[in-house]
Amino acid sequence: MSSTKDTSKAAAAGHKDISDLDLSFSTLSVHAADHLNKLPDIAPPIHLSTTYRYSPPYVTAAEGGDAYFADPTTSSYIYSRLSAPSSTALEVTLSALLGGHATTFASGLAAFTALLIRVNPKRLLISGGYHGCHGVAHILQRLSGMEILDLHTTEPKAGDLLHLETPENPTGIAHPIQHYADKAHAVGALLSVDSTFAPPPLQNPFNQGADWVMHSGTKYFGGHSDMLCGVLVHKDMKEVKTLREERQYTGGVLGSLEAWLGVRSLKTLELRLLRQSASAETLVKWLKDELEGKGVVESVSEHCALQARNEEWVRKQMPGGYAPVFSMVLKKEEMAKNLPEKLRLWMHATSLGGVESLVEWRALSDPTCDTRLLRFSVGVEDVEDLKKDLKQAFESLAADNAVEVDVRSG
Ligand SMILES: *Cc1c(COP(=O)(O)O)cnc(C)c1O
Repeated sequence: MSSTKDTSKAAAAGHKDISDLDLSFSTLSVHAADHLNKLPDIAPPIHLSTTYRYSPPYVTAAEGGDAYFADPTTSSYIYSRLSAPSSTALEVTLSALLGGHATTFASGLAAFTALLIRVNPKRLLISGGYHGCHGVAHILQRLSGMEILDLHTTEPKAGDLLHLETPENPTGIAHPIQHYADKAHAVGALLSVDSTFAPPPLQNPFNQGADWVMHSGTKYFGGHSDMLCGVLVHKDMKEVKTLREERQYTGGVLGSLEAWLGVRSLKTLELRLLRQSASAETLVKWLKDELEGKGVVESVSEHCALQARNEEWVRKQMPGGYAPVFSMVLKKEEMAKNLPEKLRLWMHATSLGGVESLVEWRALSDPTCDTRLLRFSVGVEDVEDLKKDLKQAFESLAADNAVEVDVRSG
């Protein structure tokens, strides 16, 4: 045994203290939670225990003992509905990446539910976007009488919560965050932004004044179609502490196995996202410029990569690139229904954000959607392979329907 006493927690654990370094996004995504790992393992351990041995000195709950922000370098874990080592590691990493204090939940919708409970607005201003968030809002409306109003056409009042999804599901169209932040703050209302379609480094809604940022971590944070997760981020620790007290009782915590998968996935977040975003931009521009109105393609939905060609604010709001999801409307419902079976690489399934490219005839899961609409989530495959697959599917579908197709190689 060495007699040298090293008081640094991180050094004692065999991991070097890097907290004084000014690190960039990709480095933080790999190393932000290193200090929590007490083992020499390079890959972080999985902690599945739901309960933890108490050790003295005891601080009673009445004396203010709390375990909402526990970490493995202390003994303050109590029960995993309050906090748990693997979700702490994920929350610490997400906080470093998202520019605020991140709290994780069992799903994106569990996070949105927790947000509405925390803010408890008399009026929620929301419009379009992911249909599930409207489902949550309607439950809250039934319980609290909260009014649900259209975000784009209602003048906000003090105490309102404005909830903006940008880029919006399923089209990938962007809305100006700053505009809604200014509108909300001018009257004493709050702005939450669902940034699921474009996590950093693509965009960070705090830069345009969002009060709350929400993510379905199921999508890009998980990135491999194998974990459900939700994330809420706020800059004020007091607010986050209350959020976590409430989470202890609403109970929608992230499972430890999912948290561990999340930590693992975040290490490649930037690599995956930049690739997926660049490929989506290539594909959506090709579709818009060469295929719109031709063959089976009626129209390519307005998408942030297309908006950015004319709109300066889109380029400013999304400095890292555009959403890896886009939509198009085919000429007939029957065509939209049949295209997915023609595709060989793009798999027909709901959800998005994974390394595998997916296509969805959106009417299957969103009852409010145009029945001719297909949503595409671009994975990390080679973009030329994805393009070829789309071309052969369009040609085959056009042949079935005896329509002229002009698919240039572009
Ligand atoms: C998927 C999604 C959600 C819901 O997230 P879950 O993790 O499925 O609960 C919320 N908002 C957007 C924009 C989404 O795409």
